[in-house]
Amino acid sequence: MESCDVLIVGGGPAGSSCAWQLRKNGMDVIVMDKALFPRDKVCAGWITPAVVEALQLDTEDYGLKNVLQPISSFRTGLIDGRDVETQYPGTVSYGIRRYELDDYLLQRSDARLQLGQPLKTLVKDGKQWIVNDAIATPLIIGAGGHFCPVARYMGAQLGADEPTITAKEIEFKMSPLQQFYCQVQGDTPELYFCQDLKGYGWCFRKGSYLNIGLGREDSHKLSEQLKYFCDFLKQRGRIPEDIPDHFHGHAYLLHGHAMRKQIDDGMLLIGDAAGLAYPQSGEGILPAVESGLMAAATIMEAAGDYSHAQLQIYSSRLTGRFGTVAASRGIAPEFLRNYIAGVLLESKWFTRHVVLDRWFLHTRQASLHAS
Ligand SMILES: Cc1cc2nc3c(=O)[nH]c(=O)nc-3n(C[C@H](O)[C@H](O)[C@H](O)COP(=O)(O)OP(=O)(O)OC[C@H]3O[C@@H](n4cnc5c(N)ncnc54)[C@H](O)[C@@H]3O)c2cc1C
Repeated sequence: MESCDVLIVGGGPAGSSCAWQLRKNGMDVIVMDKALFPRDKVCAGWITPAVVEALQLDTEDYGLKNVLQPISSFRTGLIDGRDVETQYPGTVSYGIRRYELDDYLLQRSDARLQLGQPLKTLVKDGKQWIVNDAIATPLIIGAGGHFCPVARYMGAQLGADEPTITAKEIEFKMSPLQQFYCQVQGDTPELYFCQDLKGYGWCFRKGSYLNIGLGREDSHKLSEQLKYFCDFLKQRGRIPEDIPDHFHGHAYLLHGHAMRKQIDDGMLLIGDAAGLAYPQSGEGILPAVESGLMAAATIMEAAGDYSHAQLQIYSSRLTGRFGTVAASRGIAPEFLRNYIAGVLLESKWFTRHVVLDRWFLHTRQASLHAS
């Protein structure tokens, strides 16, 4: 039987960030993922500078072999409404491809990797967990995303009574002709809110790749709404007429909507497994990375005592960083809905200071630094 200090289930940004920190502190870590990397992940691939900072990502080195699209302005509005362009003096975000970023972070973590290996069995044997009848460890970290098997083991009713965001997207490499006809610019992603403000569509150009998607609080007629959104983009001449139609769907929880336990004896959840995405934007990479780092700090302090009481500090750290139950229940606060949304979203001041600075860029929140 193999053994390790910590076993992390899931090698996305949450799992790899946690592994990276633990390895820096000399712990023996295994990351197990059911997928072989590099792998695709349904995601628009927008990261803020806070992610770059928390990960201590060397953007020059990363950009040598990977797509790293600097973003310095946004085009926003309501679907079918008037749009507003907001420009910033410098880079305020980046576009990445999850196919590349997740693999880069996982390889960089220096953990032992067991890829193409799903978690099948989890049995408690005294103070140890026995995973897949093959690995013994005192601590399991659930980083398996929304449908994480560790979250299920801890009692989460996956897909049952949890109000999720459902989203569909496509990312494809444009042909030279498609690139010619695509009016969306790499440094200016486009975001268009649904008329009922229960979701929004986006269109991101990253180098020669185009990412188009729509996410909503309800999954009702999502495919129809997505088609409507794509038709809207085509009518405006923003995207080529001949985009592929094999969109991929995914669901996940927003922070404050989740009723999941975050810790238990010898267990802890991070990232989407814990349901931490920002409620206004649906951004989940930053909370995944930060929760991974906070979990690692807690584990180092615990010095081998992984009791529920000892791990409680992790929950306190999450609350300190992301707050308790979110004040808003959805992508946009309730008070806006079906009311003055159209007017506000055409206002340059509201778009810059509330929609972008506050909801999407979190300019008021200080970065979390890895040690
Ligand atoms: C359409 C869409 C667009 C999005 N766009 C953005 C965006 O632009 N910016 C942003 O910040 N966030 C975005 N998000 C959210 C973001 O993708 C997630 O919050 C983020 O991926 C969470 O990272 P994670 O590491 O917790 O989980 P994941 O990235 O989901 O990684 C989980 C890993 O666990 C593995 N796994 C699952 N089950 C098992 C198992 N049984 N055994 C072993 N391994 C397993 C999976 O293979 C996967 O590699 C978007 C989400 C969607 C759906």
